[in-house]
Amino acid sequence: MTRSHPTIDRSADLMERAAQVTPGGVNSPVRAFRAVGGTPRFIREAKGPWLTDVDGNRYVDLIASWGPMILGHAHPDVMAAVQDAATRGFSFGTPSENEVALAAEIVSRVDPVEQVRLVSSGTEATMSAVRLARGFTGRSTVVKFAGCYHGHVDALLAHAGSGVATFALPDSAGVPASAAGETIVLPYNDVDALEAAFAEHGDEIACLITEASPGNMGVVPPAPGFTEAMRRVTAEHGALLVSDEVMTGFRCSRSGWYGLEGPYDGGAPDLFTFGKVMGGGFPAAAFGGRADIMGHLAPLGPVYQAGTLSGNPIATAAGLATLQGCTSEVYTRLEEVSRTIAEAASSALDVQGVPHVVQWAGSMFSIFFVSEGSRGAETGVVRNYDDARAQDLPAFAAFFHSMLESGVHLPPSAFESWFVGASHDDAAVEVVLDALPDAARAASE
Ligand code: PLP
Repeated sequence: MTRSHPTIDRSADLMERAAQVTPGGVNSPVRAFRAVGGTPRFIREAKGPWLTDVDGNRYVDLIASWGPMILGHAHPDVMAAVQDAATRGFSFGTPSENEVALAAEIVSRVDPVEQVRLVSSGTEATMSAVRLARGFTGRSTVVKFAGCYHGHVDALLAHAGSGVATFALPDSAGVPASAAGETIVLPYNDVDALEAAFAEHGDEIACLITEASPGNMGVVPPAPGFTEAMRRVTAEHGALLVSDEVMTGFRCSRSGWYGLEGPYDGGAPDLFTFGKVMGGGFPAAAFGGRADIMGHLAPLGPVYQAGTLSGNPIATAAGLATLQGCTSEVYTRLEEVSRTIAEAASSALDVQGVPHVVQWAGSMFSIFFVSEGSRGAETGVVRNYDDARAQDLPAFAAFFHSMLESGVHLPPSAFESWFVGASHDDAAVEVVLDALPDAARAASE
């Protein structure tokens, strides 16, 4: 059966105009479709699980704005909260009530978090958490894992090579060697490398920052005991453990990844970072943790951190309404929808003989198009960035474009989680299931 190709003339036009006035035509690189080729769809509006582009094509959305839209787009309760807040002004630059309510909501959900400071992006949250860890410990070295993304913070924009402890080289032009040079990059899920790095540099290390369950190399959860090992090793050396829950926070469970895996033997992480879901689609993020550490922040302590739009009244209203809408039924629905989609995708790929591995963190999942003969393909587990990189990227690109033509918008990269929302109803799921056999066939060709 031949399919008619949806018209995308207006998106193509916009991309051409965009490229004249914005580098690469986009305001965040992954949107440009460089990993999969083709023309990004310019979205005109979004409602529930649906995106509608400027040419009038509709797509089931499996990006969810890279995580925030957990209730679906333009959810009526969030819309009402935003409209109500907007009638009372957009930004005050003075304290306001919703900031207290949002902070209290986060503190009440994640047990080890005693205080939070609100910021406007996940990048700001991790940048500030690292500064606080450095200010608190009086040390400067930061440890991170290859394949973990913590926003575009200079010191954290480094993945370096695999193997043992590597002092990082900048991953981006414009990051001075001095900024990345105080970052040690380790392979994920490797206790030996962790212990070796701390044995050698332990007394210089301010913090280890990790995605609570990595989602930015695709979904690669911590192996059993790995989080406890991070806690043990950092505590032994007087370094802080920073759990980045920007992606997993309030999505994997009402208390994020910590709600699924914690509490840990040996204690909780010292600091957490949050973003995405807690802003409900608006710019709100946070970092928080033990009160004795948070007390080092200005105006109480010597670590400076601030923001004109921090705790913005519209963003906090959206975030609060979103978190309050995240009932247990919502999490049940996310699980149901994501299991149905992942199982169907896996079966369709099996039918076509396309090697793949499906991995989970709560309802977040990725399908790795593992290359034949790679460790992931041999063992059925993707443990770290090296495993994740051994993917058949052209197969993913073919799969992606087939899904898009059938009206399903996946993340345009093989290194991402697929995100569902509670508004994905049976009709939306049906569209995804119908699209999968053709996409699997395309991936096999
Ligand atoms: N940390 C994690 C785990 C993320 O996934 C992201 C963004 O994807 C960030 C930090 C940065 O957040 P933002 O894009 O809001 O700056």
